[in-house]
Amino acid sequence: MPSLEEMQAVGQSCSEYTPMHWGPRAARFEPENISCATCVHWQGEEEMCELDIFEEQLLNLDQT
Ligand code: SF4
Repeated sequence: MPSLEEMQAVGQSCSEYTPMHWGPRAARFEPENISCATCVHWQGEEEMCELDIFEEQLLNLDQT
């Protein structure tokens, strides 16, 4: 199970990140709220990312 920190780090670097509340309210989205937890592709702790790129994104983070 990913930690909140990991989900936040991945969400902030993920090119496929799409906030759930896309639209006029998105402008009010604080950077610290960007995380897999607020991404439309996140399917919860069990299934995780529906695009199956969470692990990949996490590994990419480790290289920086
Ligand atoms: S849920 Fe998937 S698509 Fe969304 S930010 Fe996380 S890794 Fe990227």
